[in-house]
Amino acid sequence: MALYVQKFGGTSVGSVERIKAVAEKVKGFRDQGHQVVVVVSAMSGETNRLIELASQINEEPTPREMDMLVSTGEQVTISLLAMALQQLNVRATSYTGAQVGIQTDSAHTRARIQRIETDEIREDLDEGQVVVVAGFQGVDAEGNITTLGRGGSDTTGVALAAALGADECQIYTDVDGVYTTDPRVCDRARRLSSITVEEMLEMASLGSKVLQIRAVEFAGKYNVPLRVLSSFEEGPGTLITTEQEITDMEEPLISGIAFNQNEAKLTVLNTPDVPGVASQILGPISDANIEVDMIVQNVAPAGDYTDFTFTVAKSDFRQTQRILQEKVIPELGGGEVRGDDKIVKVSLVGVGMRSHAGVATKMFRVLADEGINIRMVSTSEIKISVVIDEKFLELAVRSLHTAFGLDRDDVNEEKNQH
Ligand code: ASP
Ligand code: MG
Repeated sequence: MALYVQKFGGTSVGSVERIKAVAEKVKGFRDQGHQVVVVVSAMSGETNRLIELASQINEEPTPREMDMLVSTGEQVTISLLAMALQQLNVRATSYTGAQVGIQTDSAHTRARIQRIETDEIREDLDEGQVVVVAGFQGVDAEGNITTLGRGGSDTTGVALAAALGADECQIYTDVDGVYTTDPRVCDRARRLSSITVEEMLEMASLGSKVLQIRAVEFAGKYNVPLRVLSSFEEGPGTLITTEQEITDMEEPLISGIAFNQNEAKLTVLNTPDVPGVASQILGPISDANIEVDMIVQNVAPAGDYTDFTFTVAKSDFRQTQRILQEKVIPELGGGEVRGDDKIVKVSLVGVGMRSHAGVATKMFRVLADEGINIRMVSTSEIKISVVIDEKFLELAVRSLHTAFGLDRDDVNEEKNQH
């Protein structure tokens, strides 16, 4: 008998039929003798609808009232799911975050969980009840309702699993797991049976948004076995593990290919190559709260002038360009500003890279063979990212996917037959 925390997202509880289907699924686990805590999101679209309502009344509602408002979405689904379970003769009780003792700080709309009381949940579980908990919400020391930030139900699930020492936290969603890359860009993408927390964090922050990043961080920190799986079809999903042992010597170098289409590149040409240039260029940009991702500074041949290139989010592109032209260049002297927002960042991710050299070389060769020019490169221990022209995204992802052996087995078999 195991203890599972099962989280169902908005689409999984998006209609009465879906809620009934979730109840059936949960019943199946109870019938096998497992203990189950269920965490649910609001019905799909509901949180957005509530935010929209608020905006019709007040342009700047206080964060406290926003939390009071948006937390109601989850209160609807917990009660409906408890009713659906009871209808199937499964004993179940629903609780809001406050009722179940999810204590947070007071940072409304982005609160952090500080502590979870588990005594009452345990009592219910031991009595054979299914405990249904509202995701995304908690309560601060003053008794105010707080929320954890968009997508926060994932974090509720993982935090509850950690606090209860659950055997597994299962995140049921509308995809059947984590893929080697986005199947919409590469139809040879394959579901991974497992991926490490580190890799998942790289994949998530690079744009494969299956899980809230904070939930993955939480799972890593508290060693919670986390599984992503479909609520619509049967299957093992993808296990996100903190285990580092290499189980298979043939383990692939690369676990996945992530990409980010939301970046733009800026270059300051011919800036004086003196100490402090980087901070003179980037200082005013970070003062404007603009986040800089990749940075490349050329080595100046003559030693006195250099080019400085970096990337920012596409939405910050124009403002960054203005700051460079109006603030940075006049002070720094020289320099022409060039910008390009038709770029994409493509990254290979894999812990296997740690123990193998030559991944970058192979990546560059594959791209060169396709005639794809690399504009920027950055590397970390388990990731290599390149910036290329946007129009090459699909070609780059597909050729790298094949070259690094990530294609689905049936695709490989098909190729061998021809
Ligand atoms: N309902 C909240 C949202 O839409 C929390 C969640 O779904 O995880 O962001
Ligand atoms: Mg969600």
